[in-house]
Amino acid sequence: MSNDHPKPFHIAILGGGTAGWMAAIYMQHKWQDKNIHITLIESPDIGIVGVGEGSTPSLKNFFDDVEIAERDWMPRCNATYKVGIRFDGWSSEPGFESYRHPFPSQLDVYSSNGLGQYCHLRRAGFDINPHPDQFFIQSHLAEKNFSPLSADNFPFTNSYGYHFDSGLLGQYLSEVAVDRGVTHIQGEVFEVTQNKNGHLESLLFKNNDSLYADFFVDCTGFSGFLIQKKLAVPFKSFSDNLFNDSAVVMPTAAGEPLRTETISTALSHGWAWDIPLTNRTGNGYVYSSNYCDADAAETELRKKLNCLDSDTEARHLKMKVGRVEKYWSHNCLAVGLSQGFIEPLEATALHIVQVTILEFMLNFEAGGFTDKNRDKYNQIINNRFEGVRDYIVAHYRINSRTDTAYWRDNANNQSLSDSLIGLLNAWTGGLKHDIDQEIARQNIGSYFPLDSWRILFSGYGFFPKQPLKAVNSDPSLFDMAKHRDFIRGCALNYKQQAHQL
Ligand SMILES: Cc1cc2nc3c(=O)[nH]c(=O)nc-3n(C[C@H](O)[C@H](O)[C@H](O)COP(=O)(O)OP(=O)(O)OC[C@H]3O[C@@H](n4cnc5c(N)ncnc54)[C@H](O)[C@@H]3O)c2cc1C
Repeated sequence: MSNDHPKPFHIAILGGGTAGWMAAIYMQHKWQDKNIHITLIESPDIGIVGVGEGSTPSLKNFFDDVEIAERDWMPRCNATYKVGIRFDGWSSEPGFESYRHPFPSQLDVYSSNGLGQYCHLRRAGFDINPHPDQFFIQSHLAEKNFSPLSADNFPFTNSYGYHFDSGLLGQYLSEVAVDRGVTHIQGEVFEVTQNKNGHLESLLFKNNDSLYADFFVDCTGFSGFLIQKKLAVPFKSFSDNLFNDSAVVMPTAAGEPLRTETISTALSHGWAWDIPLTNRTGNGYVYSSNYCDADAAETELRKKLNCLDSDTEARHLKMKVGRVEKYWSHNCLAVGLSQGFIEPLEATALHIVQVTILEFMLNFEAGGFTDKNRDKYNQIINNRFEGVRDYIVAHYRINSRTDTAYWRDNANNQSLSDSLIGLLNAWTGGLKHDIDQEIARQNIGSYFPLDSWRILFSGYGFFPKQPLKAVNSDPSLFDMAKHRDFIRGCALNYKQQAHQL
């Protein structure tokens, strides 16, 4: 794309959920000095999916990139800070019934060494406790309900994400986008015209209006109206190793004090999230309809929340888990649920939305509409999807629950990618070719880094059945007592999260 289009380049974004508005704001912000006009179309009759209340730290990058301050958006969206996720009940190994997956911190340079050494020794058969919670500052902050923001004079920083009301976030982003020059149309598109090469040309509305554009962004949610229905890009289901396809959702009162972590609790046929917002707690049970029907899932969630007799209505949703084979096809880019969805266990959907938009903008700027550009781009996003999926699948594969067929089938599932098999083999079989080398060999450290894999495996108490032979003998054992004191001392620089920013 060049800066000197003789006439404006029109981009039509179809869909006004979080994905659509994020795409609109990114493009408007980064291409504001180019001759580009952005229109976002949404149908109030169709509405948004209206779930998705947790993020990874990359959402902070989005707000920083587009210059939206926390003090502006967080109170509007009842948002709280998030330092990580706690996993309760996924493992039945004694001492490992619960663990935390914290977001990174600058202090992790010390913690990672300790966890690495303790895991190494434990896998080699030494009687040592490598539970990950004891190593990381952000796990300690979560336990204390502390915010990730430290005192001004404390020299280390933490990555953090957020919990937020997704409906309010969409509303807030729409106001920002329109304020910054994005045109907003409300209406339902029922047909799309294409030229003889298959490129999309115009959107036809139910009220007989039409809208021409040079480029289209499909943010229509699970329907994939442009990418799947019109351009017929095939959808690759992940159901062979991610069994969950349904969710039931209901809010409860806000907790006190406000937590700074998501809790993910394993239930009979899936898991339940518990997300603290300033005005309520978001809850949902993600389950597989092959093992459990909607009524049973709702009853189990209500029991967990102690509200079997409450009048609060539960909302039931279906999830289409998988991805399209191409995200950028012809002159159309799919972003958000239209491009695919990995179930929300690690709250990665908006992270993928961001990567999808930013990578596209880089590629588009570099060369526009060439097949080579599109192919390269689609491969990058495919790798990201598969990399994230493997980490989620690993949770299910290494679970040690035996109470239901759902958990047993997950633990016995042989439908694993070569990449995941390589990682599992490196962990259970290889102090010579260890997991750090395997991550480096596969070049997958940017999806989930070494710490995340070690935390996952050690958090489940997942170690080789037979001690591994070769040990790199490190003469100095990481001093756990000293490290604990260090973490406690650092934590004095943090305080509990307030209900108001
Ligand atoms: C159970 C569940 C839990 C989740 N948890 C998380 C989480 O914790 N963290 C996370 O990051 N993500 C999570 N997600 C994913 C997250 O909800 C979505 O990624 C996010 O909301 C973006 O959705 P979207 O914008 O792609 O689609 P939607 O919100 O569904 O928006 C679709 C838009 O397209 C419009 N539209 C569709 N068809 C037409 C048409 N023909 N004409 C005009 N307009 C049309 C609709 O009106 C709507 O505006 C979760 C998803 C589910 C299902």
